[in-house]
Amino acid sequence: MPLEHLLATVGHIAATTVTEEAPSIDGQGQWPEHSIRALQHAGLGGLVVTPEFGGHGQGLFALSRACELLGEVSASAALCYGMHCVGTAVIGSKATPRQQQEFLRPIAAGEHLTTLALSEPGTGAHFYFPQTQLLALSEDEYLVNGSKSFVTNGGRADSYVLSTVGVDPEAARDGFSCLVVPNNTAGLEWGPEWKGIGMRGNSSRSLLLKDVPVPAQYLLGEHGDQLWYIFQVVAPYFLTAMAGTYLGIAQAAFNEARQYLVERAYRHSGATLSQNGLLQHRLGMMWSNIERTRQLLYHATRLGDAGDPGAVLPILSAKAEMGHCCVEVVNEAMTLMGGSSYGQSSRLEVLLRDSRAAHVMAPTTDILYTWLGRALLGQPLLEE
Ligand SMILES: Cc1cc2nc3c(=O)[nH]c(=O)nc-3n(C[C@H](O)[C@H](O)[C@H](O)COP(=O)(O)OP(=O)(O)OC[C@H]3O[C@@H](n4cnc5c(N)ncnc54)[C@H](O)[C@@H]3O)c2cc1C
Repeated sequence: MPLEHLLATVGHIAATTVTEEAPSIDGQGQWPEHSIRALQHAGLGGLVVTPEFGGHGQGLFALSRACELLGEVSASAALCYGMHCVGTAVIGSKATPRQQQEFLRPIAAGEHLTTLALSEPGTGAHFYFPQTQLLALSEDEYLVNGSKSFVTNGGRADSYVLSTVGVDPEAARDGFSCLVVPNNTAGLEWGPEWKGIGMRGNSSRSLLLKDVPVPAQYLLGEHGDQLWYIFQVVAPYFLTAMAGTYLGIAQAAFNEARQYLVERAYRHSGATLSQNGLLQHRLGMMWSNIERTRQLLYHATRLGDAGDPGAVLPILSAKAEMGHCCVEVVNEAMTLMGGSSYGQSSRLEVLLRDSRAAHVMAPTTDILYTWLGRALLGQPLLEE
């Protein structure tokens, strides 16, 4: 299916199911069940799965645009869908024939939801240094022990992409490795839902893994491949999906502010705020902020989809810049909209809370700029 049709379908679902569900997603912190099921039902679960396995074979640009459209209505729904697609991309990049059948085909058929469980309480923003232990019991089986934090779609997904560190005495089996673990695996213990001030419907939960037996067939790629996955797949897909989500938040705030300036009329003068020169200027600056950051994101995702090695810096930069853009635009909209935006449960209140995740979700804004600086200086990115 051509990309325009796919995006038109996402736009339709955003305007209908997601719009209907958005108040309860934020208001009651409900996981966006109807929105995710509608996306899966429309075949969008397999957005980034190759056509060979029934998917649409799309990449970074399509995912970031889909998250942008969803994020304009519900950032939580965009986050949950985005994390499914990032997890899918991780599974799909080196899937064995068995993993293709067990995960990719059901994902493309809308029957399987996956997600990433990388972050840990012990290493926080440095999610690429997991401490969850992977012990090879035999050629066919591992034992996994550790804990994960902030797992989006936690308890809702059908499988979880985990990062681990090998504790095998054989050096060849050492290093950081990724696994995909089905939700019905024995020994997965979920913590209570974490209550964020924003992104309230993402079902973010902690996961304790106590002597979890995992068949060797669920290893993704080779032993020690985790950093390959992080930089080749997780970073580009995650950063652009999240940048798309924050772009959606910024656009929504801009739309609210613009509408307010048009509609707000004073009785003493009969003028609307849209006639005020200073506010016209500030609206123009908001638009410019969004547009230049949008173009950076689109440029970065297109380079990434083309396999251009020069895509790395624009992709890192796009998520960091989008974090600033989103927070600035939402703050500016709050100022332009006066007391009405400051009211509890206003649309701006939701956008303000959601936008604040932009800087703290790893790779965080500060760490991204540090990686950029190191890359520009020819230094290894992960040095402390
Ligand atoms: C809404 C939400 C959803 C999430 N979903 C997922 C998910 O689905 N899967 C998943 O794996 N994780 C997820 N996370 C976790 C997230 O990606 C981060 O890993 C986590 O929020 C950061 O960990 P922390 O709170 O321990 O921060 P800390 O590690 O305590 O960091 C605090 C601050 O210090 C800064 N900092 C730390 N070290 C450095 C440094 N060297 N240089 C500069 N600054 C530094 C960080 O940038 C950050 O701003 C989610 C988080 C949120 C808020």
